[in-house]
Amino acid sequence: MSVVGIDLGFLNCYIGVARSGGIETIANEYSDRCTPACISLGSKTRAIGNAAKSQIVTNVKNTVHGFKKLHGRAFEDPHIQAERAKLPYELQKMPNGSVGVKVRYLDEERLFAVEQITGMLLAKLKETSENALKKPVADCVISVPSFFTDAERRSVMAAAQIAGLNCLKLMNETTAVALAYGIYKQDLPALEEKPRNVVFVDMGHSAYQVSICAFNKGKLKVLATTFDPFVGGRNFDEALVDYFSEEFKTKYKLNVKENPRALLRLYQECEKLKKLMSANASDLPLNIECFMNDLDVSSKMNRAQFEQLCAALLSRVEPPLRAAMEQAKLQREDIYSIEIVGGATRIPAVKEQISNFFCKEISTTLNADEAVARGCALQCAILSPAFKVREFSITDVVPYSITLRWKSSYEEGTGECEVFSKNHAAPFSKVITFHKKEPFDLEAYYTHPHEVPYPDSRIGRFTIQNVGPQHDGDNSKVKVKVRVNIHGLFSVANASIIEKQNIEGDQNDTPMDTESSSKNQGRDDELGKMMMQDKLEKERNDAKNAVEEYVYDFRDKLCGVFEKFITEEDSNKLTLMLEDTENWLYEDGEDQPKQVYMDKLQELRKFGQPIQERYMEHEERPKVLNELGKKIQLLMKAVEAYKNKDEKYDHLDPAEMEKVEKYINEAMNWLNSKMNAQNKLSLTQDPVVKVAEILTKSKELDSFCNPIIYKPKPKIEPPNDAQSKANGEHNGPVNGQSGTETKPEPAKDNSQQTKPPGEMEVD
Ligand code: ATP
Ligand code: MG
Repeated sequence: MSVVGIDLGFLNCYIGVARSGGIETIANEYSDRCTPACISLGSKTRAIGNAAKSQIVTNVKNTVHGFKKLHGRAFEDPHIQAERAKLPYELQKMPNGSVGVKVRYLDEERLFAVEQITGMLLAKLKETSENALKKPVADCVISVPSFFTDAERRSVMAAAQIAGLNCLKLMNETTAVALAYGIYKQDLPALEEKPRNVVFVDMGHSAYQVSICAFNKGKLKVLATTFDPFVGGRNFDEALVDYFSEEFKTKYKLNVKENPRALLRLYQECEKLKKLMSANASDLPLNIECFMNDLDVSSKMNRAQFEQLCAALLSRVEPPLRAAMEQAKLQREDIYSIEIVGGATRIPAVKEQISNFFCKEISTTLNADEAVARGCALQCAILSPAFKVREFSITDVVPYSITLRWKSSYEEGTGECEVFSKNHAAPFSKVITFHKKEPFDLEAYYTHPHEVPYPDSRIGRFTIQNVGPQHDGDNSKVKVKVRVNIHGLFSVANASIIEKQNIEGDQNDTPMDTESSSKNQGRDDELGKMMMQDKLEKERNDAKNAVEEYVYDFRDKLCGVFEKFITEEDSNKLTLMLEDTENWLYEDGEDQPKQVYMDKLQELRKFGQPIQERYMEHEERPKVLNELGKKIQLLMKAVEAYKNKDEKYDHLDPAEMEKVEKYINEAMNWLNSKMNAQNKLSLTQDPVVKVAEILTKSKELDSFCNPIIYKPKPKIEPPNDAQSKANGEHNGPVNGQSGTETKPEPAKDNSQQTKPPGEMEVD
């Protein structure tokens, strides 16, 4: 089995492979490790890579390059229209509305989908790897920009399929770089220590990406990714092209922009000049022979002029850095190092902007061209069973928040909820519970369209079928699992219905799956066996589902409500354990007896329970403490009133009241000491006092004090009417109030059941 990582660049592609000696980047038939993303179609043959690049100027209309960002977009997309205006070859709308490339190939007009074009390039890269590895290649990991949306990712996946590749993962470019950085580091902090935060910056030809990752031994966690998909090396080339085009207009009366071939040559020369200026600050010449109309042109530029010309572009370096730091909630001093990759980070002014922002030297220890491919190959090695690599856990993020909207034709109204927030850990699954009576549609879309460099915020529409009311007409409980998978693709993974079952003589509703029912007595024995078998199978499935749900639910809460209640070390351990369990469920644990699942759940609960308890205790404690405090105050007031000879209490026994006072004081001391001790603890420690103990204390207080303090006053015989009238006395109730003893209202049971957080419930 092959282990291959592909950096599918806008301009340049690299291939990393795992061999017994480790990871290496391999060379193509030109002994070049860089394969240009370029395809030239001719009347007899196709050329791909280096051979195609040399035909850009000679076969202008049929040499396709710069197509990476045409993926997954509609032809009418403004971004496509902007690209189209600059491309020397023709773009056309495909029958399904997407982007096609129109070329002459084998003396015929042909329209290729962008997936087919990238497919050709990937097939070439596959062939190069097969030549180097001397065996068939299928499994691979392919890089994509972290800002690629669902549609763009799906389109790249389709291209891989066309090329005959089995893409194990679409990997975000900066995450690949982070893996290439981290996996070999021997000195990463231990799991329980503070992580090492590293910033990765990649500026290639077409885009600029930043990510911040936290490293501990054996793991990397992406904290934030930011980007400017419209800044890259090509924009610097363009600034130079615009400048020289203007100059040549006045100097030579040449309109370069009207001549595609001259324009392509100017682009090539400007790119060279740009690179030279990175190494040299003095004046550098630009000479092109026979440029247009048989004219030779020449000019010059130096680095200072270039930087002035590109000031607007350079000012776009800082905002993504700032945004990434804000999103990761880090300060400059929390950053261990800044690693830069991508060709355009070689521009000195770009480097300067980055290092000025962090007030720190930047590190260029990674191979700027090959780090992405190496990271992808490493990821492929981790995913492939064919290769043994050191364990390294990678947690990426969701780049844009995702919301689900639902509606059904029968029921009124719509609803929505955000299912993944920006920078939420990925891959990740969540279970959402709906209460519905009929099939309904779910529409997934990006919550904040203005943050997404893509004109359509819709991700997909999913119909949940076969939903009906319960036997009693109630809504059905429908559990829908949504997922951002390993490729960064969103999907509704599955949906199941929980059906109420009325068992005779039992008022409780038993949740059960839709498929089977254990009613139906009076069947013959044969049938009985099958029913029993069904029942056992269902129980086995339920036990498996319970493990799966626990994993998803707990992982969700670990980054949510439970986060504060667990140390980072324990959280890391538990996350790994949950991950292992998830993997186990899809592998060895796919088909196990019920008891095995029950044991697994028990094992997870052993670790999860204390965290859950700390959380619940923390939520409930303030309320019960407060109630006990109030109760003590009320009792103390009564004692005070008794001491002040309030006639309401003048019937009480002094010796007993002394005991009561002592009891109340003790309770108050107990409360104060517990509160003090509790305040000294962190949230990750088990509480010194449990809610149940406080409630017991409260009850004890009631049962000791109430019978004494609230002992009814002996009734005084009312005088008879005549006497009363004669004396003019009034012993009866005044204003209908007194005459009855006051009793505090029984403490209300406020301990409402709190809904377990994490799992979302929507009506
Ligand atoms: P993307 O990451 O956008 O898909 P890519 O991966 O193909 O593109 P890279 O190979 O990382 O891009 O970088 C190519 C860019 O880097 C080109 O614009 C190239 O001109 C520029 N570049 C390479 N070397 C230098 C240099 N020494 N000075 C300035 N720019 C350079
Ligand atoms: Mg790149």
